[in-house]
Amino acid sequence: MVLGAGLRVLYRLHDKFQILLVGPRTDSLAKQTLPEVALSGKPVAHARLPLAPIARRTQAQWIQASATSIDPEAQLAQLDSHGTISYDFLVIAVGAVKDYSAIEGLEEFGYSVCDDDHAPRLWDALSAFKGGPIVVGAALSTWGTKVAVPDLKTPCEGPIGEVIFMAGYELRSRKIAHTISAFTPGDVFFDDVGENVHASIGPLLGAAGVEVLTAKNVSRVAKGSVTFTDGTELESELTVVIPPVPGPTGHHRLRAGG
Ligand SMILES: Cc1cc2nc3c(=O)[nH]c(=O)nc-3n(C[C@H](O)[C@H](O)[C@H](O)COP(=O)(O)OP(=O)(O)OC[C@H]3O[C@@H](n4cnc5c(N)ncnc54)[C@H](O)[C@@H]3O)c2cc1C
Repeated sequence: MVLGAGLRVLYRLHDKFQILLVGPRTDSLAKQTLPEVALSGKPVAHARLPLAPIARRTQAQWIQASATSIDPEAQLAQLDSHGTISYDFLVIAVGAVKDYSAIEGLEEFGYSVCDDDHAPRLWDALSAFKGGPIVVGAALSTWGTKVAVPDLKTPCEGPIGEVIFMAGYELRSRKIAHTISAFTPGDVFFDDVGENVHASIGPLLGAAGVEVLTAKNVSRVAKGSVTFTDGTELESELTVVIPPVPGPTGHHRLRAGG
């Protein structure tokens, strides 16, 4: 049983095991293709892989439901529909939770590239953009870890790079005057990728005229501006933010135990 209906598990193991996919969506969202939707205008269907035909092709079963609790001893998963289902082996791949409401004004005045409802909205805003300053960055996320890994202040900032370069390309093609400022809550921009990538991307950002601001925690997005927790503010005609990624809480929380 694969909670989250992850396709990687399915493709690797469907010829060896009877796979049951469980997830609330009718499709698997290929998030890495969302920048093409948000910044190049590809239809959102491009990022949605319908699960029913994939399950048919791979002789897998698929149930459209969310798991609400699991009982590892009894090997049972309770679903919000379809009752309780037993499994021999459980893969929990329910993804991250993005908290758009944590930043004041983000849903109303800001944009994101991270989900399939936000990506087409960003394309609409970019298409209607008449010029001016663009501000893009990731919000502060906090999490713990049980292993020795770098203490990052935000998840992967790759999508920020995609916004910078793809939006820049799009606007240059349309000859629309703009500036791009990128902010990060970390002390280093692209903290997760290491020195080699820093060495490559630094000159590219410089050549593109991108201003990079480090140690900036976004607190508020408003029409025409972005505010940070240190009280500073940037003018912005288009604001794109990766929201905080908290651990699962409330109805997102999957309970374990008998
Ligand atoms: C814009 C963008 C670009 C990216 N680009 C890249 C890239 O180039 N390369 C790369 O490697 N990574 C990239 N990533 C990261 C990558 O998309 C994620 O790491 C990946 O999607 C994580 O996969 P996942 O299956 O763990 O979670 P998800 O893709 O989040 O899927 C989790 C699924 O679980 C479902 N679910 C939630 N709760 C339950 C429940 N209780 N029961 C059952 N199902 C549940 C959700 O509905 C969802 O369908 C990018 C991400 C973004 C946002």
